[in-house]
Formats: sequence, structure tokens, C-alpha cells
Amino acid sequence: MRVRIFDTTLRDGEQTPGISLSPAQKLAIAERLDRLGVDAIEAGFPVISAGEAEGMRMIVSAGLSCDICGLARANRKDIDAVADAGATYVHTFIATSDIHLEHKLKMSRAEAAERAVSAVEYAKSRGLTVEFSAEDATRTDRSYLSEVFSRVAGAGADRIDIPDTVGYSTPSYMASIVTDAVRASGLPVSVHCHNDFGLAVANALAGIQAGAECAHVTINGIGERAGNASLEELVMALRCLQHGDTYETGVVPELLYETSKFVSRTVGVNVQPNKAIVGDNAFGHESGIHTHGILSNPLTYEPIGPEMVGRKRWLKVGKHAGLHGTVAILREYGVEPDPGQSRVILDRVKEMGDAGQLVTDVELLSMADEVMGKGGVRSLVKLTGFSVSTGIGTMPYAFVKLEIDGKEYSDTDYGVGPVDAALSAIQKITGAASQLRIKDYGLASISGGSSALCEVTVLVADSSGNSISAKSVGEDIVTTSVRAVIDGANRLMLKKVTMRQKA
Ligand code: MN
Repeated sequence: MRVRIFDTTLRDGEQTPGISLSPAQKLAIAERLDRLGVDAIEAGFPVISAGEAEGMRMIVSAGLSCDICGLARANRKDIDAVADAGATYVHTFIATSDIHLEHKLKMSRAEAAERAVSAVEYAKSRGLTVEFSAEDATRTDRSYLSEVFSRVAGAGADRIDIPDTVGYSTPSYMASIVTDAVRASGLPVSVHCHNDFGLAVANALAGIQAGAECAHVTINGIGERAGNASLEELVMALRCLQHGDTYETGVVPELLYETSKFVSRTVGVNVQPNKAIVGDNAFGHESGIHTHGILSNPLTYEPIGPEMVGRKRWLKVGKHAGLHGTVAILREYGVEPDPGQSRVILDRVKEMGDAGQLVTDVELLSMADEVMGKGGVRSLVKLTGFSVSTGIGTMPYAFVKLEIDGKEYSDTDYGVGPVDAALSAIQKITGAASQLRIKDYGLASISGGSSALCEVTVLVADSSGNSISAKSVGEDIVTTSVRAVIDGANRLMLKKVTMRQKA
């Protein structure tokens, strides 16, 4: 069965506390969603502000291939705002639960049903495709809900939606009211599930299995309070967890990760690391038992391959690490310790892990370097010359000379300070030579006083999205920064060269 994906990242997702998008940002996300292959985008709630209406107008005229929908309460002004923004598809709603009728709308059940019917009739008179939602449906009296759905269907609605507004449903209850709704309306049914009890995706899936043909979802599950059903989780569950049923969507799974990243960056909300499909740890392995299994066959500890959703698997070492995983990571850098050396390296990894410290790849490599002695770890990038000048009334300026894989490079640059100038000069060289970029820079002082030790952490990335963080400790901020960057660049290039040689 083909399931329709209705994305509401730009409407319900934007209602996440603290998120506010400009019309241009909304358009940029809409373009990504369209490329991802969603069937419909809820682009906004145009009556609420001029910017919201403008964003809607921009998205409607962007020539996207998916349907573009606007939200409206069940009144003429809201519906007009959607139509006036150029949309041909409205999602109109009125609450039907007694809690909302009594405390919010101050309306009887009969009045609410009447409002719903006139809103649908009015929207149809304006030539719109109409999706009708009974807000708080899952806390609404079941027979009244069926009556409302049957009446809006009679008034000409094209689709109906069951919002689990406060995430109050269970999968089996969602299935029951989807069955009711299909029977009462005879229309295509959508489910709109919230995650207040962590059940949004489970409820949406149950709704679909019971006969709903569409789910309202958001990228990364963003939305009011605990959020909405997350697009990536639902789409992958539909695609992969086929215990007898077969479901398809138009979503291109390989684009899920980059879309998730894009949305997270644009809205400024990070994805939790343990989030399914798109979280940092979703395809990461540290425990020795798991890495051993993964190295023999990824199916042992991964339900799907990371490539399927546009990602890469990573292995890390720590106190749970085993010999296989540790050696496998070193091999990625072209480092081949013998069995005795591997044992010593592993012991050091576990010591660090037990001390509660994180063992990054860079640290693992420096352990290997120490244990294996000269020649164990190759050095691709060498700093062969460096000077910096700074002062008052003069632009900070740096000169850097590097040897990369045997070739000499030098460059100069200015900056806001000596560190900035030095890093810019390095980036000029590594940028041209190997497309490396410094993505993040952090500085901490370890002890006090003007002779304090400083600790510099940098994140260096290459053009294919691989990144590595490196740390350096020293007395001089500028040279310590430069050393950290060179170290990171070195590791990253080593990995690249090794992978190329293997391929
Ligand atoms: Mn909602």
C-alpha cells in the first residue's frame, strides 16, 4: 500500500517553543522536503502574521511538485488567508473534545459540528481542497467524533484527519478510531500523532495498519511540547518492518540524514544522540561484543545499513572496547599494530575509559604512536615553518609552511587575532591541497595565571563530510592551536589515503 506523507515541519514543527523561521528559511526547508519526496507540505498558518503569509506565498509559487497546504481554524478569515496566499489546499480544524469545547471554545458539541460543516462548505466555495481535523480527536466522545466526520464528509471535505493533539492515544485506540473514521466518512483518513508519551510513531503506524492512508509528520519529530511523529522514523518503519504488510512512500531514504541535518541547523535544535535513524549514535558502536559482530557482519547489530539512510557507520573505542574493534579503527588510518602492541593499546584505552575519559580517534592514534614507536603512524602533514605577528595598530598576520605528503606549501593570511590569522593561513593551504576546513574551535585554560596551560580543541572536516576532532595542550595559545589543527588535518588525511588505497 502507498502511504501518503504529509510533512508539517513548517507548521507544527515551527510551533516548537523557541523556533521561529523567516519566509526565506521556510522556503529553503520546503525545497529540501520536496526533494526528499514528501507528498504534501503544510507550509504555515497564514492568518497569524504577515511573514507567515509571505512564507506561504513564496512556497506556493516555488513550483514544487508536492501539494502545499495551509492551516486555518474553522472560520472564514483563516480560510481566506490560506486562499489569498495562493494555496489551493487548506487544513481546517475545530476542537471536538469536551475539554476543549468547555474550556477553550465555550461551545456545545452541536455548535462545533455546525462550525465544522460551514467551514468546509466555505472552503469548498473558494475552490480549495479540504482536509478537516477534529482537534483533540483522541479525547473526543467516540460516537460524536464519528458524527462530525460523517457530517464534514457530507459537506464536501476531501480528507479527514485524526489529531492526537496531546499524545493521549495508544496504538490500539488509534486503530479503533481510524476504523470508525473510515466507516463514518468514506474519505481518505490521516493521522496526526504527538509524542507526549513517546508513542507518536507507534500510534501513526497503528493508524496506517488500521486503514489510514496518510500520516502527518515532521523532520526530527520537532513540534509542540514533546513533538510530532518523526518523518524519518515512520518512513523507515513502514519500509523496513514489514511483518506481512507492505507499505511504500515517495520518500527517498538516502536523503533522510542530510535533510535532518539541514532542518536541525536551520531551526537551531539539535537532534538527541540516541534518536533513531538520524541521531549521532544510531549507527555507532563501541562495545567489544558489538563491534566484533559488526565487523563479521553488520546485520548482527544493525537492523538496516547506514548507507540506506545516507549515513556512515562509525566505531569508537572506550572501556567497552575489544581487540577487534580497536585494531579495525587503527586500520582505517593505515596503522597495523602486531598482536602484542594491540593488547597494550587496548589496555590503555580501557584505563582511559575507566577514568571516565573519552577516547577520540586522535587519542587512539597517539597511543598507537607511543606504543609502536617510530614509523607506526605516518605523518602526512608536517609543520615546517611558522611565524605570526600581532600588536596594536597593525593587522595580525601569519605565515605558515607545511609539508603535505612530501610536497612543500606555504601561505600567509590576516585575521582578527593571531590564532585566527594562523588558522586562516593553514586553511588556505589545506583547503587548496585537500579541501580541509576547520569547522569548530574551542579554547580552555587549564591552570591560572598568565603562564597558564591552554587546551585547544578543533574540529576539522573534509569535503565528503568526514570530520575529526583533535586536541592539543600547551603554553602558547597560537602554537597550541596550530598544533591541534595540524594534528586533526593529519589524521583526517591519513584516513582518506588509507581508504583510497584499500578501494
Ligand atoms: Mn499538532
